[in-house]
Amino acid sequence: MLLIKITNLLLLGRVTKLWWLFILPITFLTHLNFASAQSDFHVVIDPGHGGKDNGCSGDHSIEKHITLEIAYKLQQALRTVAPHIKSSLTRYDDTFLPLLERAHYANHNQASLFISLHCNHVPQAYVSGAESYVLGEDSMGSLSDLESRENVFVGKYAEEYRPEVDDILNQALYQQNLKESIAVASLVNKHIDIYSDIKARSIKQANFIVLKSLKMPGILLETGFLSNLGDESILLSDSGKTQVAQAIAKAVQIYEASLNPQFAEPVYQQESTPRSYTIQIASTKHQPANISRPEWASLSSYDIYLDADGVYKYTVGNYTSPEQALQAREALYYKGFKGAFVLDKASLKSEDKLN
Ligand SMILES: [Zn+2]
Repeated sequence: MLLIKITNLLLLGRVTKLWWLFILPITFLTHLNFASAQSDFHVVIDPGHGGKDNGCSGDHSIEKHITLEIAYKLQQALRTVAPHIKSSLTRYDDTFLPLLERAHYANHNQASLFISLHCNHVPQAYVSGAESYVLGEDSMGSLSDLESRENVFVGKYAEEYRPEVDDILNQALYQQNLKESIAVASLVNKHIDIYSDIKARSIKQANFIVLKSLKMPGILLETGFLSNLGDESILLSDSGKTQVAQAIAKAVQIYEASLNPQFAEPVYQQESTPRSYTIQIASTKHQPANISRPEWASLSSYDIYLDADGVYKYTVGNYTSPEQALQAREALYYKGFKGAFVLDKASLKSEDKLN
């Protein structure tokens, strides 16, 4: 209404140089309203692969298409559950985007959180589930199959963004971002487990270039295995992708709320049963692991599980927080267990325990 009056005054020519005295407070008030409706929290959603980079493929699926569809659904779900959270995508169509440009986009836009969406593929068709990755220490030259695949399109861009990569190696920033990334990964895993038909596996650490180049917390989410028929059919279906997107959105909403203690719900008290974590140091199929290797002599104890598929799993320790577990995992890595990773104990069945 005030605006109409000012417009009238302007039209009538009754104000000349003093018009800004009226306009300025309105602009200021509008800005305040906008600020209270929008938080500064900005999620950059990164649909993995694109264009000439298909990612992995299942019998009926191509990773780059699934990640883009989930990204759109995640943005839509965030607008519904948390309209004050700003979100953007690193790509909006089937175009190729180098890994470091994705991280650069997030850094340049001062994003608060980065979520890279992917699908996994392994030769063992029985392996299924979603996995969240946070940045791990340098893998000393030998990349795992997954790291090699997800890092494949760095190419010439590695040199171009070198200063940014060095910057992120600042240890204090790395530790803080790692802690936050683990919190996000825990929430994402938990919500995927509860709200989607895909089971959550574990939080893992890996040396993904796209995470290494970030200046903010970030996770790389493998939403499921395209090599597994069950996961693939869920990720191909509209409802399956919606479930996964809504689960991630809920996790982001809770994480963002937890950053503002004044208004936050007591999110971490919602856990009905406290979680515990262990480190899986080895797994074998149909036959026990070779424990005569030297690294095994350094262990005071370990647990052995044998599941219905004939898979032996060897685990060490019992930790109440993923941070403690990741520290323990690092120590085991340097003892020689290069494939050690953190496992939510809920994924192990007590009746499978052999010792
Ligand atoms: Zn991928």
